Amino acid sequence: MTKTLFIADLHLSEERADISELFFHFLRTDAVQSHALYILGDLFEVWIGDDNITPLTTQVAAELKRLRDSGVEVFFIHGNRDFLLGPKYAKKAGITLLPQLQTINLYGTNVLIMHGDSLCTLDIEYQKFRTKSRRRWWQLMILSLPLAVRRAIARRARNRSAQVNSTKSMTIMDVTQSEVVNQMKRAEVDVLIHGHTHRPDTHTFNIGAQAATRIVLGDWYTQGSVLTVTSTGFTLTNQPFI
Ligand code: MN
Repeated sequence: MTKTLFIADLHLSEERADISELFFHFLRTDAVQSHALYILGDLFEVWIGDDNITPLTTQVAAELKRLRDSGVEVFFIHGNRDFLLGPKYAKKAGITLLPQLQTINLYGTNVLIMHGDSLCTLDIEYQKFRTKSRRRWWQLMILSLPLAVRRAIARRARNRSAQVNSTKSMTIMDVTQSEVVNQMKRAEVDVLIHGHTHRPDTHTFNIGAQAATRIVLGDWYTQGSVLTVTSTGFTLTNQPFI
């Protein structure tokens, strides 16, 4: 039976070799048997430009390219940590970059996929930054800075976000249900798949008279989290560290 896989929020970094190891194991065992793999953002903890080439980014590109060369299509939607990942790296890794919102047909069902940060509309401060940072001129300005400067900016942003987020309520950090409904209505779908909130779950609710489902992928901090979709349905599973 063909299957399509979804993952998000791996937050790969040099400091967490255990996550990279589990990810590579997943690519070589599970993903290689799939029809397609969708990475819904925050594959990397931070991305400051395709020109910041490290042993980690090189190995991830090689592993993804190997999967692609074995016949599995790999798609990527940007997260709030790796939104600067560009066409140069995508080409090297053999992955296809998708827009922020994408509707795909999965075994006869139309499904909306996204990272999920655009659903957290109560976090006004973050949404302001999101709007600005997704503009082409802002990205070109940042990418034109020397790498050392970009590293310093990223370090400061991470410290600041850790500080600010520790004081934000759980409600502000979660999705806004009315925004979920708005975006699903606009896309004319009954199923939504996203990550970002690190709260893996399957939510069922109604949009008008229509039953709707929202599937949230988990992060990879303490285990892997994979959504498997086949013609018979959706299964969200955990994968223990090796
Ligand atoms: Mn995120």
